[in-house]
Amino acid sequence: MSGRQVVLGGGGFIGSHLCDRLLDRGDQVVCVDDFSTGRRSNVAHLHGHPGFTLVEADVSVGLPVEGPVTGVFHLASPASPTDYLARPLETLAVGSEGTRHGLELAHRCGARFLLASTSEVYGDPDVHPQPESYWGNVNPVGPRSVYDESKRFAEALTLAHHRTLGTDVAVVRIFNTYGPRLRPDDGRVVSNFVLQALRGEPLTVYGDGSQTRSLCYVGDEVRGLIALFDSHLTGPVNIGNPDEYTVLQLARAVLDLMGSSSTIIHLALPVDDPTRRRPDITMAREALGWEPTTALEDGLARTASALAEEVGIAGPPRNGEQGSPTVLESEPDPTAGRRKECDPND
Ligand code: UDP
Repeated sequence: MSGRQVVLGGGGFIGSHLCDRLLDRGDQVVCVDDFSTGRRSNVAHLHGHPGFTLVEADVSVGLPVEGPVTGVFHLASPASPTDYLARPLETLAVGSEGTRHGLELAHRCGARFLLASTSEVYGDPDVHPQPESYWGNVNPVGPRSVYDESKRFAEALTLAHHRTLGTDVAVVRIFNTYGPRLRPDDGRVVSNFVLQALRGEPLTVYGDGSQTRSLCYVGDEVRGLIALFDSHLTGPVNIGNPDEYTVLQLARAVLDLMGSSSTIIHLALPVDDPTRRRPDITMAREALGWEPTTALEDGLARTASALAEEVGIAGPPRNGEQGSPTVLESEPDPTAGRRKECDPND
């Protein structure tokens, strides 16, 4: 399905990769961003592309987009804890008013609306791994609530629009994603560890590092978003990589991969930092024929090269230059037995 797609937050980390992928398949793209946490450089290579238009606007205030629209992808929001904790009111505004503006544009144009929600809606989960049917365990008044509750409200608003006005919608719950175009000062775990290793600084593990995350490469994530958009599912659908690592395992993997002799230091654990996180992606596998394919070692190497180039430091060694390659063992995937082979073209 090609068409004219409006990408809110198209200048951001995931949003800019989504713009690339949509243009590659022949869609026109209207990228809307106020560049508060996104970056002009993420879409600089698209200027002059005949299918690409940039609208600089804060989607919490309004959506100055004219003409026909096939799809509205709402990825506009600060997403790193560092960013949303620094912009609490803006985060709540873009999840509420920004979502409303996106839904109204989609409804007016007869377009499909895709909300980028988050694994944060599960909070500190007491069900593991997290299926879409789990309602979560969120502190509604803690510092992270500005993001968690804004996304939970955005999900509620999106489903209410669908039920009351018939707007065509889909909700994706994005789990931790990494890759090129993460900002060096983004504050998330992968960019922090890679930059610290590149600079020979200690890797900052928060708490004892026993908390877990499951990291999805951005190319896999964007492929999942488009598969959901192209389907008739409403969701919510988890899109993430179920390979789960402790933060300490991740720190060691980064050190090994980059041949770094940086040390590891422990800093205070942020308030309400979830103790574990891993998506159950049975629904995405069975209904969309989607699953991630990029190994952590490969994704980390690409991320490290991009960050190294950006900050002007020599990158990680290529395969063969540095001992034997790291083989990371993640926890076994409890949903694997339920996998069925799916043809994405079914
Ligand atoms: N973290 C860490 N050191 C860092 C940055 C993050 O140990 O320099 C931890 C953080 O406490 C969390 C995990 O890594 O447990 C993932 O953090 P991130 O900010 O990437 O995203 P989150 O999953 O918390 O939204």
